[in-house]
Amino acid sequence: MPAVPAAVEAVLRVALPLPLPRLFDYRAPPAWRADQAAVGCRVRVPFGPRELVGVVAATGPADPAAPELREVLERLDPEPLLHGELFASLQWLARYCHAPLGEVLATALPAALRRGEPQPDTRTWAWRLTEAGNTAQAAMRAGRPKRLADLLHAAPRDEEALDDLLEGWRGAARTLAGRGLVERVAVPASQLAPAPGAGPEPNPEQARAIGAVLASTGFAPLLLDGVTGSGKTEVYLHAIADCLARGRQALVLVPEIGLTPQTLARFRARLGVPVHALHSGLNDAERARVWSAALRGEARVVVGTRSAVFTPLPEAGLIVVDEEHDGSYKQQDGIRYHARDFALVRARALEVPVVLGSATPSLESLHNAGSGRYLHLRLSQRAGNARPPPVRVLDVRKRALDNGLSRELLEAIDAALAADGQVLVFRNRRGYAPVLLCHDCGWSAQCRRCDAAMTVHGGGRRLQCHHCGHRQAAPPACPDCAGLALQPQGVGTERLEEMLMQRFGARVPVLRIDRGSTRRRDALQKHFETLGERPGLLVGTQMLAKGHDLAGLTLVAVVGIDEGLFSADFRAAEKLAQLLIQVAGRAGRAERAGEVLLQTHHPDHPLLQTLINGGYHAFAASELAQREEAGFPPFAHMALLRAESRHADPPMAFLQRARALLAEAASRSGDSVDGGLVLHGPLPAPMARRAGMYRAQLPLSALQRRDLHLALDRALPAIHALPEARRTRWSLDVDPVDL
Ligand code: ADP
Ligand code: ZN
Ligand code: ZN
Repeated sequence: MPAVPAAVEAVLRVALPLPLPRLFDYRAPPAWRADQAAVGCRVRVPFGPRELVGVVAATGPADPAAPELREVLERLDPEPLLHGELFASLQWLARYCHAPLGEVLATALPAALRRGEPQPDTRTWAWRLTEAGNTAQAAMRAGRPKRLADLLHAAPRDEEALDDLLEGWRGAARTLAGRGLVERVAVPASQLAPAPGAGPEPNPEQARAIGAVLASTGFAPLLLDGVTGSGKTEVYLHAIADCLARGRQALVLVPEIGLTPQTLARFRARLGVPVHALHSGLNDAERARVWSAALRGEARVVVGTRSAVFTPLPEAGLIVVDEEHDGSYKQQDGIRYHARDFALVRARALEVPVVLGSATPSLESLHNAGSGRYLHLRLSQRAGNARPPPVRVLDVRKRALDNGLSRELLEAIDAALAADGQVLVFRNRRGYAPVLLCHDCGWSAQCRRCDAAMTVHGGGRRLQCHHCGHRQAAPPACPDCAGLALQPQGVGTERLEEMLMQRFGARVPVLRIDRGSTRRRDALQKHFETLGERPGLLVGTQMLAKGHDLAGLTLVAVVGIDEGLFSADFRAAEKLAQLLIQVAGRAGRAERAGEVLLQTHHPDHPLLQTLINGGYHAFAASELAQREEAGFPPFAHMALLRAESRHADPPMAFLQRARALLAEAASRSGDSVDGGLVLHGPLPAPMARRAGMYRAQLPLSALQRRDLHLALDRALPAIHALPEARRTRWSLDVDPVDL
């Protein structure tokens, strides 16, 4: 048989970060043949007048009928950057999201690598005394170089540690290095970790859960369903320690707000290996460094937020998703992946256990546990001496309210402070007031670019749109009737802070915690440190609901949740129930008993009744029954086609055409037993105009996931090709969380 000419195989199919659902063919440069394990490597290629960085997804024979191919400009990785399980899982994700592979890969790679930068140096650098330095150290003159030499005399120190230990050490190091007294050396990260510390003895429920994780072999999804403060983190720590002992890597996902210095310190102190953090506070170089360290197997424990789910795990042993119900796991633009769901996909491919932990599991996960797909582990008791707080409903119908707070509530706050406790007032609405209203004519301040009211800030002086960020000064008089009766309506956290400050500010500190007051990552921590264990008042939004231990907290007051009881979104009840349970869980975390007061105009609302009398699981059971009845997830599978434009008509016009194509594709599949694909709409989006864009959407659902994907697979090429598709910006969201 004649040998196949090399040129035939020398076509590289490259995934490029472009919104086009295909790969792009290029010729390999003669210097390296296409079959040299190019798949998974980044390449720089010409694209029109531009250059792009892509990933080789496949190699193959040239199509003799195809026009002359352009040549790859440069190969950026000597070894594949993406291979094995991660590459396969990302290809799965591209199919599942019906998104171009190139865009999925670009989402998964850290920005620096996406731009084509070389893989970073992942070594940790330390400084130590040379032999000459050891001799000279004792007799050196006082000063910073001497102080550095003293530090290094005790032990070599890595640069991060030196940053903490000695200000201006770099200059001193240069001086000493110039005299040959110190040197910089690369050290294995494992040498730098503290010895593992001991934790509390697991209680019987924890021991059972730990046993279950340790006993699982291969892919095993476990739902760790434990009330706030029940010691879920302890279970993770034991499971991770076991994973490390087996010589494997562990990945821990946490919500953005949960990745605090506190959390990291706890992991570092207990595990005895370096813990690599991945979060939005890192710069591109730092993120790429952690990613590459994981790829090289140097990072053994990675703790990170949503996008950390793309961490390479060549020696995976365990994945943990903490607060698995948290909304921050869903990416809301670009590739709309769900980090928890993708963690499950990866755990299956990696054949490792995946622990989903929460005090308020998502209905999806509870459904999976109920049907036996996940092992359901319960922690029903708070660990240590902490007791769950009783919840009392304050019916405020027909009561006089002072800035939204009833007299009874103010008295309870007063009493808690008098008993040296800390009080949290929870109001999930930042700003001074949600609306600025003219009492003379009924005018209210609306955003020019959104279908939404402007929020009042700065005690009434400023207006800000929480949807598009638009800001302006509050008008001095009503723009419609020129009247002077403009009044902020309703109460936001700023206004609560002002009022509580007037009332209690002379006695105790009053701190407001929301995105307005707490922009920086460490600001939250600083706030808590300022307060310490002293009596005090915290006012805040859902930022306060999560994760933070406040030992002195004895009263949680929840106000202004009524609007959430009547939302149209089918997930609103679930979100509200989770929020209420999480906020309530802040009380009585330590030795002191806590209490929760819930102020409402709807004390008989079934959601509140079920939640208070039966707890979260009773709520979840009744909510799941309703979802089943109504044919909503998790009993049906959904996708959402969204479209937006600066003009009013194109989104609906596009979605009408898309609907017809989808309906046609669904009728062709025809073999479904449950009625196949259901199309609702198209409809204007719940906020039909936002940031100047008109928005519409087409929800799709099917009882069988297969029907949904089949119809999308068949219809999407034609949808992409629609002339209407070019006149609107559109996107597909599979398993949307916000409708
Ligand atoms: P969760 O993650 O469920 O909120 P944590 O693991 O943070 O709970 O535990 C809550 C608190 O209880 C922590 O201060 C922790 O140190 C403590 N704790 C956990 N398990 C035990 C135990 N078995 N005995 C005593 N204290 C414990
Ligand atoms: Zn007016
Ligand atoms: Zn706006």
